[in-house]
Amino acid sequence: MNTVERPTPRPWRDLAAARHDFPALYQLVHGKPLVYLDNAASSQSPRAVHEATAQQQARDHSNVHRGVHALSERSTAAYEGARHKVRRFINAASTEEIVFTRGTTESINLVAASFGQQLKAGDEILITWMEHHSNIVPWQLLCERTGARLVVAPIHDDGSLDIRAFEQRLGARTKIVAIAHVSNALGTINPVVELTAKAHAAGAIVLVDGAQAVPHQRIDVQALDCDFYAFSGHKMFGPTGTGVLYGKRVLLAALPPYQGGGDMILTVSFERSTYNSLPYKFEAGTPNITGVVGLGAAIDYLEGIDFDAVALHEHALLEYATRRLLADVPRARVIGTAAAKASVLSFVIDGIHPHDIGTIVDRDGVAIRTGHHCAMPIMERFGVAATARASFAFYNTFDDVDRLIAGLKRAVEIFRG
Ligand code: PMP
Repeated sequence: MNTVERPTPRPWRDLAAARHDFPALYQLVHGKPLVYLDNAASSQSPRAVHEATAQQQARDHSNVHRGVHALSERSTAAYEGARHKVRRFINAASTEEIVFTRGTTESINLVAASFGQQLKAGDEILITWMEHHSNIVPWQLLCERTGARLVVAPIHDDGSLDIRAFEQRLGARTKIVAIAHVSNALGTINPVVELTAKAHAAGAIVLVDGAQAVPHQRIDVQALDCDFYAFSGHKMFGPTGTGVLYGKRVLLAALPPYQGGGDMILTVSFERSTYNSLPYKFEAGTPNITGVVGLGAAIDYLEGIDFDAVALHEHALLEYATRRLLADVPRARVIGTAAAKASVLSFVIDGIHPHDIGTIVDRDGVAIRTGHHCAMPIMERFGVAATARASFAFYNTFDDVDRLIAGLKRAVEIFRG
C-alpha cells in the first residue's frame, strides 16, 4: 500500500514528452516494462545521438585534421563542431580549453600526469572522503611517484563535507584540491564555488570532478572559477568512451603533454619534437570521432531542455522516492542524507544484501546499481560493504518510483519467508 501522498504533477510537458526520445526506455525486461534507475552509472541516449553516430559511421567515417578529402573535412567539421558545443554548454572562454578524453577518469589522470610533474616531496593533494576511486587513485599514484602526500577532508554523518576540516587541511603545501561536484555514492552536492575560492586563497589549483553534476544542472566553469572540470559523455546522454577535460587556458598552455603520438605534435625529429597548439597538444592519436560527434548531438539535445525544470522534477522524484522508501519498505535506511542532494538515493535494507535487492528488482524490470559504487572509503565511513542505489534522470517518472518500491517490498517479503 502506498502510504505517501503523491505530489501533484507539475506541467513539465516538455520533460514528459522528452521521454519518448529515448528508445531504450521502451523495452521489456524479464517480460516487464523497463524502469531505468541506473542513470548515475550511465544514462540512456536520445534518438538524435543514435542518428548522429550512425551517420558518422555510415557516411562520414574517416580521420580528422589530416585529410583534404570531403569525408575527412566532414568528420573534422563534426568533431570540431562538438568542441564548440561543449565550450558553449559549460561557458568556457575558448575552445582551446576543451580537451576530449575517454571520460572523467582519463581527464583526471591527464591532470595528475601533466600538472603533477610539478609536485615534489612534501607537497599535498587535498581530496574529500566522498570521492570516486577515479579521483583518489590517480593522486595516490602521483604521490608514489613524487613523494607528495594525499590529504583527505572528512565528511559529516549526513554525507555533507566538513567544511571547517577542509579549511584546516588547506595550507601552503596544498598544490591541488580535487573535489567531486556531486557524489555518485551519496548524492551530496558540494559547494564548489566556496571550496574553490578557499583553495585559491591558499594558492592551490582546483580540479572539479563533474561526472555527476553535468546531467543535472547548468555548469558555468567561469562562474565556478575552477581550474579544471572533468566529465563523461555517457552520463550526460551521450556515448561511452567520450569525456571532457576543461582547463583554464593559461594553465593548459604551461603544462607538458599527457601522451605522445600523432596530432599532438608540430614537428618531430629524432633529436626533439615540438608540440601542437591547444587543445591538440593533449589529444594524441586518432580520437573517438564517432563518440564525440554523438556527444555533440547529446549537447544539442540538452540545449533544448529546461534545466530549471529538470532540477525541480528530479528533486521531486528524489523526495518522493526517499519518503516512500522510509515509509513503505521495512528496515530500509538511506545512506547520504545531506540537505543538498542530487538525483541519487543510496540505501540499504537491513538483513538483505544489496546484491540480492538488485537481482530481485531486476526480475521486475527495475534497473538499479548495487555495490560499492567505486567509492570504497564511503562504504567504510558508513559501516556498510555496499549499498543499493537508485539514480534519476529527467525522463524518470513517479510511476518509476512506485515500481521500484513495489520491487523492494517484494524483496523484503522474499527474505521474510
Ligand atoms: N567521478 C564520479 C563522481 C563518477 O560518478 C564516475 C563514474 N561513476 C567517475 C568519476 C568516472 O567516470 P568514467 O568511468 O566515465 O571515467
